[in-house]
Parts: sequence; C-alpha cells; structure tokens
Amino acid sequence: MSTLARPEVVALTPYAPVEVTSPTRLHANESPWDWLRAYDDEIREVVAATALNVYPDDGCADLRALLSTYVGCAAENITMGCGSDELIKMVAEAFLRPGDVAVVPTPTFSAYRTAATVASASTCEVPAGPDFVINADEVVRVANDTQAAVVFLCAPNNPTGATLTREQVLSIVDRTSGLVVCDEAYVEFGGPGVAAEAATHERLIVLRTLSKAFGLAALRVGYAVSSPETASILDRVRMPYNVSALSQGLAAVALRHTDRVVDLAEQIRTSRDALIAAADGLPGLEVFPSAANFVLFRTGRTADVARELGAAGISTRLFTSAALADCIRITVGTHDSNQTTLDILRKVHNAHR
Ligand code: PMP
Repeated sequence: MSTLARPEVVALTPYAPVEVTSPTRLHANESPWDWLRAYDDEIREVVAATALNVYPDDGCADLRALLSTYVGCAAENITMGCGSDELIKMVAEAFLRPGDVAVVPTPTFSAYRTAATVASASTCEVPAGPDFVINADEVVRVANDTQAAVVFLCAPNNPTGATLTREQVLSIVDRTSGLVVCDEAYVEFGGPGVAAEAATHERLIVLRTLSKAFGLAALRVGYAVSSPETASILDRVRMPYNVSALSQGLAAVALRHTDRVVDLAEQIRTSRDALIAAADGLPGLEVFPSAANFVLFRTGRTADVARELGAAGISTRLFTSAALADCIRITVGTHDSNQTTLDILRKVHNAHR
C-alpha cells in the first residue's frame, strides 16, 4: 500500500495522542473542569431540540453570531472548523501550492508541518534558542529569504508557553508578503489577541478554539477570524457540515456564559503564575515563563518526575525531539493537582541537589 500512497504522506508520523487512563489528565492542555454540565437544563434543551435525522446548519449561523460578539467582529469574519486542527489543514489546502515554503518557528505544535507536507509544500523552521523565546526578526528574515507563502505563528506557543506581543505579530505581517496565521488556541490565558486586526487585514488569519479555556475539547469546535474575502476562500475547502448539530448547540450554550469562561481562565492564570513562582529556583529545574494553561519545565529528571506524577495518578507530556530533550509539559489543573505537581517537583529536585 505504501507504494500507492504519496511518499510525503508515507513519511509522516501519524499524530498519536497519548492514550492515558490516569484520573488526572495534565498532558493535553485541557480544562480541568467540565463546567458546562452545571447548565443541565440548557444542555437538555439543546438535545431535545436537535433533530438527529437532518444535517446541521452548514453556515453555523447561531454559533458564528455568538462568536462574533465574543470576539468583537462580524459573523462574516468567522469560519468554523472541526477543532482548530481542521482549520490548520484548510489554510494549508487553500494557500499552499506544491513547492511553496511555510515558515514555522520551532519547537511548536506539529500540525503546521503536517498540513504543509500534505499540501506538498516544504517547511522552513526558525528554531528558538535554549530560552525558547520566539525571534520575530528572524522569522521575518527567513520568511522573506524563502519567499514564504505562509508563516505559522503559535502565540502563546505550544509546548513552550512563550508568546509574541500584538505588536510583534502585526510587525511580522507588515514586514512579510505572504499569509500570516496566528494560532491563538491559548489566547484566553495570555497572548497577542489580534483577532480584531485579522478581521480587517487581508494577510492575517487568527485561529482559535473552544477546546482550551472554554473546556469543550470533546465538541471539536474551532474558528478562524479573517477578512470576509479570506473567509470565503477558506469556505471553499471546508467540508460540508463540518460542525455537528450537537456541537453547535452546546457551544452556543457555552457562549451564553462567557463570564464563567473568563472566571475559569483567570483561575488558571493565577494558579499557573503561582506554580511557576513556587517551582522557580528548585535545584536543577528550569521553569519557562508561560502565557498558556501549561508550564514547560527542563528537569533533566523527566523520567523521575513523570513516574512520580504517574504514581499520583497524573499524566504529563514528554518529548522526543532534541530541542525539548529533558523537558516535561504539565497542564495547569485544579488547585489539588497543581499542589501535587509542585510537591513532586520539589521531592525529585530537592533529592538531587
Ligand atoms: N493549536 C494549538 C497550538 C494546539 O495546541 C492545539 C491542540 N493541542 C490545537 C491548535 C488544536 O486544537 P483543537 O483542534 O482542539 O481546536
């Protein structure tokens, strides 16, 4: 079969989400709270009102209207995706020609490279230094040198937590000539927040998701904010009915309670900053600043930390790439799981002074 498949696709490593049975999932940057369940009556109403024998609203009219209020743009600036994963794929399909170059600051989320590869484009990486700070000037230089068709920015960046300022993102757009995609999956926890600019700027697309701060990863709802012209391009590669009726209905319930989302995101930010402050300075442990709902640690004792956390029922994310060797990414969770994380980091690192 591999002789029939496209060689660039055969060469890809399948995205294999870590399968875990740990009761506390701190490996996938999810929300620790299934908060929408509290709105039981509204959930029941959605389920009761959804006809299961007919296709959903392809235009996601209600959801796009609610999102436009949340973002502060018009509904015509919004394109819906089955998670922002699908939007990354759609951007690559619509904007990358075979042989084009996509520029990607690394280390980062693997989906950009995969989407570029499937579109027969090549990826040019702009590696961060050991501090993981994204070098915006270097991104501009490489994008111009390679005449990049697309620059994928991830801010705040998964898995490092580093971010770019609003000014840096806009200056990358101004100083390059291709499309700039700013993935703001974690924007509610910090980050540039350039959706309003994307609504008016032809060459900027912002990608967002309800999987992180909204705590709705199970629904698979992402959205892009762009100019209406760009939205109409993305619409041409969008799968029909790509957001299920139940996902549309339940996401709409969440968007009627954004005050709750804002509160929960604030709790995560406070816990994250407390975790970073408390872990900073432990012997042999490097803690990277984070604008997201996770923290990256360079421990040199990843196996010990992961084993101890695993024994406490907590799953975490380790990496195989050279840039992230000795690093572990831990999602910020409930107060109790953050305390356990900290206790274990202290135990492992104080034991190896
Ligand atoms: N972008 C980034 C930076 C992510 O970390 C993730 C998920 N881990 C996604 C996009 C995809 O999110 P979803 O498809 O759930 O919206």
